[in-house]
Amino acid sequence: MTALSRRLRFLLPLLLVVATSAACVEFSAPPSPPPVAFAVQPTPPGAETDVAREPVPTSETCNATESLRPGPMPEPGSMPIRSTMADIIDHGRLIVGLDTGSNPFSFRDPISGDIRGFDVDIARAISAAIFGAPGSIEFRVLSSAERTEALQNHTVDVVVKTMSITCDRLREVDFSSPYYVASQRILSTRGSGIDGPDKLAGKQVCAARGATSIGRIQSIEPRARMVTTTTWADCLVMLQQGQIDAVSTDDGILAGLAEQDPWVQVVGPGLGEEYYGVGIPKGQDDMVRFVNGVLTQLRVSGRWQQMYDRWLSVLGPSPGPPQPVYRD
Ligand code: GLU
Repeated sequence: MTALSRRLRFLLPLLLVVATSAACVEFSAPPSPPPVAFAVQPTPPGAETDVAREPVPTSETCNATESLRPGPMPEPGSMPIRSTMADIIDHGRLIVGLDTGSNPFSFRDPISGDIRGFDVDIARAISAAIFGAPGSIEFRVLSSAERTEALQNHTVDVVVKTMSITCDRLREVDFSSPYYVASQRILSTRGSGIDGPDKLAGKQVCAARGATSIGRIQSIEPRARMVTTTTWADCLVMLQQGQIDAVSTDDGILAGLAEQDPWVQVVGPGLGEEYYGVGIPKGQDDMVRFVNGVLTQLRVSGRWQQMYDRWLSVLGPSPGPPQPVYRD
C-alpha cells in the first residue's frame, strides 16, 4: 500500500463525517450569489410568456366567503338516501382533485410515496365523515387551470387544492366556507434586488395558469410581464434557470418552494388575501352544507389547529381558523 493510499484510508471516514454534518446544516442565508448557468436551458412544457391581462380576483362584490349553514350531521357511513354523500358512498370512495407539487398543502412524500399536506388532511376529514374511514379516497392530480372544469365535468367529487373562493369562480362552481386565508406575496432570488411589487416593472413574473395570482400582479404592476406555467414547480425551475425574475402566489405555496431552494426567498408585503374553499360542483347544496359541517368539527375540536401546526407553522404562529359566515 502506497503512502498516499494509506493516508486516504485515514481521511475517508473523516471526509464522510464532514459531508454528513454539512448535509444537516440549514442554509438560511447563502454566503454568495447563486451560480450563473451559461448553458441554454429548456423551458418547462406549456410555459407561455407575456400572457394577456386577466381579471383582478375579487371575493367582495358577491359576498363570496358566505356559504350555506351546516345542518345536523349524519353518522359516518349512513348518509341520507338520494343525497350527494350517499352517491359518493355508492361509488366507493371520495374522488378528490388536488396537486402533488403544492408543498405544504398537497405533495407526494418522496420517501413513502403518499400524498400528504394540509389540503390532504381536509380531504381525509371529509372522506372520514362520509365513510367512517379516512382511507376511502382517490386523488386525481389537477393543475390550477383544470380545477373548475373537473368539478363541472364531475370527474372529481371535490377540489381541495389551494383554491381561492372568488366571485368569478362562483358563477361556475360552489364552495364551502373558507378553511384557510392565504396572502399573495413574491418569491425572488436572493441578491436579485427584487424585494417588493415596485421592483417588478419590466420583469418576468411567473404564476401557474388559471391562478388568481396572475390578475392581481397585473393590477398592482401593469408593467410586469407575466409568464404562466402548468405547475408551481415549473415556476421554481424557471426561476432557478434564470428564465424569469420572480414568482408570485399565495405565501404558503411560496414557502413550500423556498424550502426546496436556499437561494430563493419570499419577499415584500402581502398583496391581497385569498380565501381557500373546498370546491364543489354546482347544485349540490347538501354537500356544501355537509362539508361546512366537517369544517366546523375540525375547528371546534382543535384538529384544524393541529393541522396548522403540522403543516403550516413555517408561516409563523397560527392566526386561528377563519370564522364562517353562513346563509340559510
Ligand atoms: N389560490 C390561488 C388560486 O386559487 C393560487 C393557488 C393555485 O393556483 O394553486 O388560484
